[in-house]
Amino acid sequence: MSSQSHEPIPGAAPVIGEAEIEAAVAVLRSGMVVQGPEVAAFEDEFTKVSGTAHAVAVNSGTSALQLALLAMGIGPGDEVVVPSFSFAATANAVRLVGADPVFADIEPGSFNLDPEAAAAAIGPRTAAIMPVHLYGNPADMRALTALAERHGLAILEDACQAHAAALDDTPVGSFGKAGTFSFYPTKNMHALEGGMVTTDDPQLARTLRLLRNQGMEQRYANEIVGANMRMTDVSAAIGRVQLGRLEEWTETRRANASRFDAAFKGLDAVTAPPVAAGARHVYHQYTIRVAGDRDRAQALLAEDGIGSAVYYPTPIHRLLPYQDIGADLPETDRAAAEVLSIPVHPSLSGEDLDRIAAAVTGLEGRL
Ligand SMILES: *Cc1c(COP(=O)(O)O)cnc(C)c1O
Repeated sequence: MSSQSHEPIPGAAPVIGEAEIEAAVAVLRSGMVVQGPEVAAFEDEFTKVSGTAHAVAVNSGTSALQLALLAMGIGPGDEVVVPSFSFAATANAVRLVGADPVFADIEPGSFNLDPEAAAAAIGPRTAAIMPVHLYGNPADMRALTALAERHGLAILEDACQAHAAALDDTPVGSFGKAGTFSFYPTKNMHALEGGMVTTDDPQLARTLRLLRNQGMEQRYANEIVGANMRMTDVSAAIGRVQLGRLEEWTETRRANASRFDAAFKGLDAVTAPPVAAGARHVYHQYTIRVAGDRDRAQALLAEDGIGSAVYYPTPIHRLLPYQDIGADLPETDRAAAEVLSIPVHPSLSGEDLDRIAAAVTGLEGRL
């Protein structure tokens, strides 16, 4: 069944089209290149995705997390409850502000922070809970916001993979005190590099604007200690073009995913990702669980020209900087051993989708 005659299908296909290039060139010709009118317009337009009163643009998703934590007053002596089954940036941001991440296990179905495990991780030093909407699938914000309220804790949402995801028609990024998004090229929309913090709190938004720009609102009248985490107008202009296509791309991702869901029903070799009632999964990744030899599954898919990837082979608590914490997270370890993400991006053709579905279905009985 190998298809040597076909081009390999990549796992991600960042779009840098003519519209993006023209938008970037227009900024370069304008001379207003950093935190200017394009950034302001991008922020304004992004609030429609996040459903928040404010959006503050920064230079990456990691910066967004770091500044959000700083603006929330989280630092040395504080603990933040985080999932370990995520990209390292989630925990890195906590450590970068001098606070301590406390890892809690995930729900096996959603791959997201388990509210019961999060509850068990709360202690006297806990300042916040940081759920991640992994793969574009909203975390259980009903249970997590109730938990945070019960303990008087803040929630910071890591929505870096979940642009336009929603739960009960409420967009991610609007549940907590703040939400963060990334515009790295492989995300559902990009700005070359970039990030956004979303919030309804005007005071928090103002602090974020100060923090990203050396603590200045008026030039050289620095009010607080700040960093330089500004977004360029080139990035914002590209981000605005991408934002204009986000809804169409999201619907395509969701349609691609339903096609896979139908094709994989009843298979023993792989399990399709379940979605909770009321959740709008935006499929940053379409991630299956493999029953059997995952390396072999990847190799067989590669023979058929299908690019697949493991997000994440090593959970954060097993990475060098976090090993000393010694967290015990069985569902996280199991997911890290079983997950495999297959291409679901909007550039796939109908023929690509058929090839991917056939290749995955063809794993049955061979692992
Ligand atoms: C991509 C990502 C980040 C970091 O975003 P960058 O823009 O790469 O800094 C943080 N958290 C998660 C879950 C991500 O996927």
